[in-house]
Amino acid sequence: MNDIAENLNRILSTLPEGVTLTAVSKFHPVEALQQAYDAGQRIFGESRAQELVKKATQLPADIEWHFIGHLQTNKVRSIIPHVAMIQSIDSPRLLQAVSDEAARINRCVDVLLQLHVAKEETKFGFTPDEISDFAPQIAGNYPGVRVAGVMGMASNTDDFDRVRDDFDAIRRIFHSLANGAMKSNPAFRHISMGMSHDYKIALSCGSTMVRIGTDIFGEREY
Ligand SMILES: *Cc1c(COP(=O)(O)O)cnc(C)c1O
Repeated sequence: MNDIAENLNRILSTLPEGVTLTAVSKFHPVEALQQAYDAGQRIFGESRAQELVKKATQLPADIEWHFIGHLQTNKVRSIIPHVAMIQSIDSPRLLQAVSDEAARINRCVDVLLQLHVAKEETKFGFTPDEISDFAPQIAGNYPGVRVAGVMGMASNTDDFDRVRDDFDAIRRIFHSLANGAMKSNPAFRHISMGMSHDYKIALSCGSTMVRIGTDIFGEREY
C-alpha cells in the first residue's frame, strides 16, 4: 500500500460512523489524488477555482468536488458545473451568485454557511450576529442551492481549550439554526469542522465532516 492509501485508511478507521471525510487536495498533483481515489476516496476539497476545474476535467467523473476556500463571485460560473458542494459561503452576495448560476444551468448545489468564530482577523465567514440576522431570509429565496449545514475553523493556536471553545460555538450556532430558521429544511445536517491538527477535538465537539489535507497527502508545495 502507498503512503496516501495508508494515511487514508488510518484516518478513516478513527472516524465515527456517519462522519464524512473531505480529502483536502489543494496544491497536490493529480497523481496524488488518483492514489487516494484508487484507495476508495471520492470526496475531494479544493480552495482555488481554476485548480478545481482543471483537476475535475482530468480525474474520474464520480468524484465529488467540494470547494472550501474563499470564492470570488466572478469565479462562481467556472466551478458550478463541477462542484457537489461549496462549503465556504461567506456572504449573502455569494449565496445569491451561486444560487443564480446553479439555477441558470438547472442545478441545485449543496452549500454550507461558513461561520467566523475564530479570533483571527483574516478569516472569512458570518459572525454569530450576522448569521442570526441572515438565516431567516434564506428559506424560499435561493432556488439553486440546498443549504446543508455550516462550516467553520477554530483559532489557529496550540491552546486546545480555545480550539474547543471555537468548535463548541460552531456547534451551538448549528443547533440554534437547525431548531430555528432552518427547521423546515431536512438537508440542514452538516457541521464541517476539523483539519489535520485539530480534527480529533472537532469530532469530540460534534463534527459531522472533517477536512483533512496534510495528514493524507503530506505537506503542500506552495
Ligand atoms: C487547507 C484547508 C484544510 C486542510 O488543512 P490541513 O491542515 O492540511 O488538514 C481544511 N479546511 C480548509 C478551509 C482549508 O483551507
